[in-house]
Amino acid sequence: MKRIALLGGLIAAGGLSLVVAGQAPGPSPKSIAATKIEKVKDNLYMITGSSVADMTAFSGGNVAVFITDGGVTLVDAKLPGFGPTIVARVKSVTNKPITRIINTHTHADHTGSNEFFGASVEAIVQENTKANMVKMDEFKGAKARFLPKKTYKNTMTIGSGRDEIDLYYFGPAHTSGDTFVVFKALRTMHVGDVFAWKALPYVDPPNGGTVMRGGKTLAKVLAGVKDVDTIITGHIPVSSWNDLKEYQQFLTEFAAFAEKEKKAGKTVDQAAGEYKLDPKYKGYVASANPDFGGIKPNLEIAYDELKQ
Ligand SMILES: [Zn+2]
Repeated sequence: MKRIALLGGLIAAGGLSLVVAGQAPGPSPKSIAATKIEKVKDNLYMITGSSVADMTAFSGGNVAVFITDGGVTLVDAKLPGFGPTIVARVKSVTNKPITRIINTHTHADHTGSNEFFGASVEAIVQENTKANMVKMDEFKGAKARFLPKKTYKNTMTIGSGRDEIDLYYFGPAHTSGDTFVVFKALRTMHVGDVFAWKALPYVDPPNGGTVMRGGKTLAKVLAGVKDVDTIITGHIPVSSWNDLKEYQQFLTEFAAFAEKEKKAGKTVDQAAGEYKLDPKYKGYVASANPDFGGIKPNLEIAYDELKQ
């Protein structure tokens, strides 16, 4: 619970500037400047997200912008307050209207600007994510009308031909409702925060997240999704299928480490002291930010799960 409050607190202190005399509340200029639109492939762009290394420039996750015959589909919607920025970035590449939002998971740095696009835009999430969103302040009371109306359980196909989008759910990882969004003709998949960065994950147990099962879920993704070469991650630049494979191995090895340490009777602190990032993981750090995926919090969650 503490971590969730912290997420809200850091978001408030980070990308969203506090109310200062003479200054309207909203995204900080630095966080807006950090969002750029980049071409991924034909008809597919990415509005860059931010890593958690510098929370003062934090805008939320990477947003996929998929231009179809019928309009623009967004995957994820950054923090609250970034709607106008998202629209401006999309307008720089197409005149088509935004007609659909798919959210990879519940967190406010991926769903925060759903409200800006209103209830008329079609919004789609995995059914567990909808249950998680119902609990959020952003979707309570009168704002419940901004909740996604369309849900799916295991898979869903939207559109056809070059516009086809396939949604997959493979089980719990970052949360209980992580969607993998495949732009089939473009061999590209948005994986949300199941692969947020090259570091230990930030998982969210109150929303069904798991340290011990994340690698297993990602193994199902690798086995179950075909013909993808390009990965849009939660928060870092566009990556490859091999990067995703490597991350699956990284998560699996961490879970095995936690299990071994617990079996050996080590405390969380002892285990945290013994954890060493394997140098075979090039470009990795153990922790992207101690408050979001620190070594100790991951071990605490793993130990809790191993008790059950
Ligand atoms: Zn998240």
